[in-house]
Amino acid sequence: MQGVRGSSPLSSTKSRKSACCPRHADFFVCRAPGAVTGIAASRSAARRGAHSNNGRMVAMCTCAPAGPRHPNQRLPSPAGSPRPVPAVRCPCNSGDTLEACCGRFLDAPAGTRFAPTAGALMRSRYTAFATGNAAYLLRTWHPDTRPGSVGLDPGQQWYRLDILDTVRGGPLDHDGIVAFRAHFRAGGARDSLLETSRFVRIGRQWLYVDAL
Ligand SMILES: [Zn+2]
Repeated sequence: MQGVRGSSPLSSTKSRKSACCPRHADFFVCRAPGAVTGIAASRSAARRGAHSNNGRMVAMCTCAPAGPRHPNQRLPSPAGSPRPVPAVRCPCNSGDTLEACCGRFLDAPAGTRFAPTAGALMRSRYTAFATGNAAYLLRTWHPDTRPGSVGLDPGQQWYRLDILDTVRGGPLDHDGIVAFRAHFRAGGARDSLLETSRFVRIGRQWLYVDAL
């Protein structure tokens, strides 16, 4: 695991040298069964279960881990803190989480992160419809065809997107076409929208132009 140096476990005490933070780089953490987890100032102290530092009991280190953290590594939650919120699937049905898929474009400050392809922009705009993000819809709309405002119907629930076909729209293309079917519920009934959309790339940013 990253952030741990000198990890040669002592078989008898299960203590190990831990670099949980620069301040505690030379301390030992005792993990003996039944022991109160703490930081010992020396290997022998850890062996005795003496979790003290200069005669003062020290608590489990709560410093930030040293070095980069693996994306899948979770930090321990402080006692009494809310449980972590489970990852939300992206509404565009990519199979990724919202954060890893369209969320990284929708949540980024304007002008800082762009969908790399016309298809990715199509997905992110669908997700913007599904999550009620009118600001993202407007800023990814070509200025020549962009309306003054976007009215989103809160009674319309978008629940599925099928990408049917994509023509060009790659990172090196200047234009692209994406055909899709977007499914929604409204007034207790299910319906869908079938559309073929045109996109153009200006600089690093793909923009929605119109529907064919
Ligand atoms: Zn997505």
